[in-house]
Amino acid sequence: MSKQITIIGAGLVGSLLAALLGKRGYQVNVYERRADIRNANISAGKSINMACSTRGWKALDLVGAGDKVRKAAIAMNGRMMHGIDESLTFQPYGKENEAIYSISRAGLNQILIDHADEYENVNFQFEHKCIDIDLDRTIASFELNDNETKYVESDLIFGTDGAFSAVRSVMQKLKHFNFSQEYISHDYKELSIEAKNGEFQMEKHALHIWPRGSHMLIALPNPDGSFTCTLFLPYEGENSFEKLNNESEIEAFFKSKFPDAFKLIPNLIELFNENPTSPLVIIKCFPWSYKGKVTLIGDASHGIVPFYGQGMNAGFEDVSILNELMDQHGDNWIELFQEFENSRKPDADAIADLALKNFIEMRDLVGQEWFLKRKKIERALYETFPERFIPQYSMVSFTNTPYSEAVRKGNQQDLILDELVNKEDILDIIERGDFKSFVETNHMIPN
Ligand code: FAD
Repeated sequence: MSKQITIIGAGLVGSLLAALLGKRGYQVNVYERRADIRNANISAGKSINMACSTRGWKALDLVGAGDKVRKAAIAMNGRMMHGIDESLTFQPYGKENEAIYSISRAGLNQILIDHADEYENVNFQFEHKCIDIDLDRTIASFELNDNETKYVESDLIFGTDGAFSAVRSVMQKLKHFNFSQEYISHDYKELSIEAKNGEFQMEKHALHIWPRGSHMLIALPNPDGSFTCTLFLPYEGENSFEKLNNESEIEAFFKSKFPDAFKLIPNLIELFNENPTSPLVIIKCFPWSYKGKVTLIGDASHGIVPFYGQGMNAGFEDVSILNELMDQHGDNWIELFQEFENSRKPDADAIADLALKNFIEMRDLVGQEWFLKRKKIERALYETFPERFIPQYSMVSFTNTPYSEAVRKGNQQDLILDELVNKEDILDIIERGDFKSFVETNHMIPN
């Protein structure tokens, strides 16, 4: 008889995992705290947008949902930086056809639940809040809307219940379970730029950034012509949420910091006051599994800050890796979960660090001239030596290279770029077409 599997949390990772396990023939029951998101009326621009990249697409294609998601996604080929003087600078993310894709979180979640629900052996139960797990007996307890408690026994439990996981909170009581939770100094708030007569008011195929040093605004396109914006500010101190308490403070801040965006958000005050200010947290823990019976995946085991656009992609990659391990280990879940957590943990830690580092790049460095010079050199290296020099951003976003390897190679690349950026006439050398011979003559990149 096929195993009975309980998945706790029908968010992005839980619903994708349900589709995979359904495809593999398991009896899957997914329990979600919220009401069914498919019945919610979420207009575009009213949900956070996610950037989906290669790792995400790989997992979506694995379960056969990739094409459904592609129809609702918009390619973003690069960053469009908005200067304080309203100037625009475009910086491609990679080579010509490389892009990351903007997709509404709610829309994606709806597609994935629908997709998994097509399997007869997958069953979703909403408004079931997990409140406890008996780890040894694999019994999950749920609180229902009428305050009733329901107990569900199964062979395996997957905790895909996000950064504040109830499953993890039970595991945290185990001996030798390591856990850390770190709030960063910045909170975020969603805003939006509506379409004008059905048209985009800024470049459609870009991720827009207003980098301002200690803080920033970003905007991602939606298919209806609107943009979902996210404002990242410290929660206290200078230029912080704490300082924006009334209409005149909010307006003065936006006018001086994001003048072009200010003109495109006529309902700024309403949005600012209506939308919550939310924290950003980094979650690390280990081990992720218990005796081959219970495991955590996605944000429940590795929650990261959103600045590399990789949290969901990393969670989706967890699903691809689990699939490969299921091929190797069959139903030996103890071995499978142990190999999964041991091999995956260094990569989860690596992307957590990279995401934090990219915050500095996005909010500060992208607006600086020397950084743009460095990016031009990096691009020239990529175009000239596509097999030997793949920039770290491209490795992370456009390949399935393990994150920890992308960090290791990125550190080597930093040394090369540091040397080249200090060469005053390097951009002329690139311009003249002498770059290849210059790099080769000076043995600057390994073969
Ligand atoms: P979640 O999406 O949090 O889903 C968890 C689910 O479990 C939810 O449905 C929740 O209701 C349910 N749940 C929680 N507790 C219980 C319980 N007790 N019982 C039952 N159900 C429960 N990642 C990217 O790859 N690209 C991006 O561009 C990107 N942008 C982001 C922007 C912001 C502002 C933020 C905050 C994050 C961003 N991320 C991005 C990260 C991404 O949102 C997460 O990594 C991803 O949502 C993790 O998916 P998950 O399924 O593990 O957790």
